[in-house]
Amino acid sequence: MNAPALAPKSFQARSVSLASRYGGRTVVAIGAHPDDLELAVGGTLARLARESARVVMAVVSIPADFETRKAEALRAAQILGCELRILVESGCCRIDDMKNYQLVGLLDTLVRELQPAAVFTHSANEFHRDHIAVHNACHSTQRLKSFDLFHFSPTMTRAVPVTFHPRAYIDVSTTIELKMQAIEAHLSQFAGRGLDSEMYRDLARLNGRMVGVKYAEGLDVSRMLLA
Ligand SMILES: [Zn+2]
Repeated sequence: MNAPALAPKSFQARSVSLASRYGGRTVVAIGAHPDDLELAVGGTLARLARESARVVMAVVSIPADFETRKAEALRAAQILGCELRILVESGCCRIDDMKNYQLVGLLDTLVRELQPAAVFTHSANEFHRDHIAVHNACHSTQRLKSFDLFHFSPTMTRAVPVTFHPRAYIDVSTTIELKMQAIEAHLSQFAGRGLDSEMYRDLARLNGRMVGVKYAEGLDVSRMLLA
């Protein structure tokens, strides 16, 4: 019997750091409303900002209480170390009232200006029609530029069962407290309504268990260049 071929030096899985992938580059997170991004990827965005990426949190529109919710979103973005853009700045606006070409046009303008290396946005598995509309519009913007495209878990203030299976995980053990603070900055959505945000800590803990870290955020991967 011939001697067995030498095994590769290591089969051990190696994770690639966010810093090495996106450090010094621009990453854009696109959410339908204020608080969506903090709920879904607050820990990831804080990590990216810490690791020298330019992180832009783009909120498509504010449906009500414009000044209050804008101020809350600004505070949350500051906590995470990110820039904030409200794409419809003229006042309250519902995405449901926009034409599809208008929504795609807003995102096209953003992508043309920022030339992101990666985009994080809603998945198709959502219960909120606005979130699905933003998901579809983000897919349309891919024709302008090749960027990594990730989808995040459904976001809500009260728990609603929606199927979502992460395919990638970001370790947010070092930024979970920033995420929770950023969520709590949205007083009108949580404490102001007698709601707490602990289900998002619970979800991060559960996602962390899936990959052997204390806290993680789960993503679906739509497109990613492995160089
Ligand atoms: Zn929303």
